[in-house]
Amino acid sequence: KLGNETAKAELGRAAWKLLHTNFARFPEKPTNEEKEALRQYVHLFQRLYPCGECAEHFGQVLKKYPPQVSSQKAAAQWGCFVHNVVNKRLKKPEFDCEEIAKHYDCGCADEEKNLKA
Ligand code: FAD
Repeated sequence: KLGNETAKAELGRAAWKLLHTNFARFPEKPTNEEKEALRQYVHLFQRLYPCGECAEHFGQVLKKYPPQVSSQKAAAQWGCFVHNVVNKRLKKPEFDCEEIAKHYDCGCADEEKNLKA
């Protein structure tokens, strides 16, 4: 039981990291196609999330708070908000969403520059 809890927590940390990093890298002014891609990504992430109990709860969260895909900032703030909804349910401390921009950096900001060089 203890081992399973550890694995579930590790999966959670990795999943949140990837999700928030995706939001941090989403375009400032997304096209309709990019907006739709992010919306689908979030819904499929929920549907296929390996922890069934987590997926079920997160499905309820998505129904109540659908993904915000209008801009990078909207997506990142939404991601922070829904993670806080999960934190609250698990009795974890609330994260300050003002800090979100500083917190998620994939180290790939120079990617486009490098490709052009
Ligand atoms: P995590 O919540 O994993 O957060 C990792 C790091 O992200 C934190 O250390 C902090 O630096 C940062 N962070 C914290 N809050 C925010 C925020 N609001 N915005 C941005 N960054 C933040 N576990 C269960 O036991 N039951 C469940 O039902 C469950 N449902 C889940 C649903 C989803 C969709 C996901 C992705 C995970 C779920 N988990 C669930 C796992 C759980 O959310 C945690 O990932 C896990 O318990 C490890 O917690 P942690 O304290 O290390 O921090």
